[in-house]
Amino acid sequence: MTRAWLIGAGPGDVELMTLKATRALGQADVILVDDLVNPDVLQFARADASIVYVGKRGGHPSTPQEGIVAQMLEHLHAGRSVARLKGGDPFVFGRGGEEQQALHAAGIEVEIISGITAGIAAPAAIGIPVTHRDHAQGVIFVTGHGAGSSEPDWGALAATHMTLVIYMGMRRLNDIVGALLAAGMRADTPCAAIESATRPEQRHALSRLGEFADAVARAGLGSPAIVVIGGVASLALARAAAASSSDTASSPDAK
Ligand code: SAH
Repeated sequence: MTRAWLIGAGPGDVELMTLKATRALGQADVILVDDLVNPDVLQFARADASIVYVGKRGGHPSTPQEGIVAQMLEHLHAGRSVARLKGGDPFVFGRGGEEQQALHAAGIEVEIISGITAGIAAPAAIGIPVTHRDHAQGVIFVTGHGAGSSEPDWGALAATHMTLVIYMGMRRLNDIVGALLAAGMRADTPCAAIESATRPEQRHALSRLGEFADAVARAGLGSPAIVVIGGVASLALARAAAASSSDTASSPDAK
């Protein structure tokens, strides 16, 4: 039977992919791979599977969304099973919803295999829970990418006092921080940015909102990164402070 899957590959670390995802990858005839997917996950593909990169990083030209769906349909109509592999979770800022709609419109059922989204895994990788009873009653996943009419209402988001987890926010970080401060968010609100989370090259910056954009620039962080703004980030700040004071305490000079 011909099958179609929309699969989340998780945030980077291969071990954070689900068993269901590895099983589906092992069945697919064709695998269409997005940006941000760790190529190591392809170890679960069949040796004879055909692998197509459709992401825009790594020197590959980006394939327009319609082109991706057209390719999937072509393979499916030819009787080949197709796995569409996306970073994180396929339904969180991954355009998975659009691809599902397009496949449904063509009369094709697609199985969704959830993945661990970067917005949860990246903060967790440096000890930040996205909710915590002392800090936040909820969490908002938001894109920092939009500009103009699609710009999120940062003032309204600030007013919720919930954890803000911002995807695709690095290029516009200055504007976002400025908008949150202008909306009355406190300058001492804890913040973190985590680049390439759960991968060997993971790096991060921790700071207060007032100095955050400078701290991120100083650390030289870029995409892909998750930005976390809110009291929960104090857990990582406190840990960093404790680590640096225990460094001092254990150094012979400090005695
Ligand atoms: N579907 C994906 C998100 C795709 S949008 C998911 O659920 O995770 C792409 C954005 O995700 C990036 O710009 C970045 O903000 C974030 N991202 C993805 N992988 C990441 C990683 N390993 N570390 C930090 N951020 C990541």
